[in-house]
Amino acid sequence: MTPTPLGLYLHIPFCRQRCDFCSFYLEIHRESRAEAFVRSLLQEIRLSAQEYPSATRAIQSVYLGGGTPTALATTQLLTILSEIRTHFTLASDCEITVEAHPSTMPWQDLTQLLQAGVTRMSFGAESMEESDLARIGRPGAVHQTIRAVEQARAAGFTDINLDVMYGLPGQSLKGWQRTLAHCLALEPTHLSCYALTVEEDTKLATEIRRGRSSVPDEGLQIDMDKAAQQILSDAGYERYEVSNYAKPGYACRHNLLYWTNGEYLGLGPSGQSYLDGTRFGNVADLAAYNESLAKSRIPIDDRTRLSEEEQLRDAVIFGLRLIQGIPTHHLHQHAANYGLASVTTQLLTDQLIEEEGERSRLSARGRLFADTIAGQLY
Ligand code: SF4
Repeated sequence: MTPTPLGLYLHIPFCRQRCDFCSFYLEIHRESRAEAFVRSLLQEIRLSAQEYPSATRAIQSVYLGGGTPTALATTQLLTILSEIRTHFTLASDCEITVEAHPSTMPWQDLTQLLQAGVTRMSFGAESMEESDLARIGRPGAVHQTIRAVEQARAAGFTDINLDVMYGLPGQSLKGWQRTLAHCLALEPTHLSCYALTVEEDTKLATEIRRGRSSVPDEGLQIDMDKAAQQILSDAGYERYEVSNYAKPGYACRHNLLYWTNGEYLGLGPSGQSYLDGTRFGNVADLAAYNESLAKSRIPIDDRTRLSEEEQLRDAVIFGLRLIQGIPTHHLHQHAANYGLASVTTQLLTDQLIEEEGERSRLSARGRLFADTIAGQLY
């Protein structure tokens, strides 16, 4: 039997400043903090390889996310990658992604990342309109994104993602279409298009409450989603998940793990794992993380063993987001397990979920309400 694919995620919890919409766990980058964190992360890599024997099989993908991984010095990133190779086994074709903020990209160091085995660069562009970036408190500028992509390609990277967002304060449909056109001119292999969600406890939420900012209404967001689908499919990108588009053969292997019930080990503060039927997560606090690892303890603060029904529930909820969908009998089994037959019937009647052959998935309209539908099926 083919083993379940396994990935490794490393949360690098530093940014130069916090964007107005961002609710991720992170700290403002300081050199001394970064040094202490890297020491702890190396320790966690060593301890995890011992602690989880099932994670010593070949790893299919490594993802350095955050935060801003490139807030660390390149030498620190190389040390982390080297420690991973020492203690884990990477598949010969392992996908290794580094997320980068275009303004923190060390151009001269891109070749070193490539030589260290990084296969994929993912740049947080967010928008290709300066006015959008200003309204979300996003440091950096459009020309830095353009330069980041050009330099990555010149260094030899062939797999490049751009993250962009729609539904930003003050953003118009035309502005969003211009952002997509500018992205396409850079010829990335992958585009992640995220609808902005306003999270509590963010500066943006406060600004909206005070009437100083507002986001496009749901109708405009739906039009923006449709525009992305049209423009990107015309340009040869396949939508393979609610928010993700790729040129054929360039779907992100690591992100697919999350939606196909793959296993992953998440290191770093707030890192989340799913291994051997158990979900567990690290403490989202850098000081507590460092303190625990200094005592050679992996800083897990939350662990849940999932029943078979819960594993199926998660596989259904995540798998419906994929264009390839899930086996229809899984959807009906999940509905039977949780007494959700009438909810499922309604979602099918409303054409929010569609059945095609023996598979089910969110319909084009259902994808616009993916989070609400997930809540109904939970
Ligand atoms: S760069 Fe990314 S992780 Fe950092 S604050 Fe902005 S959105 Fe959040």
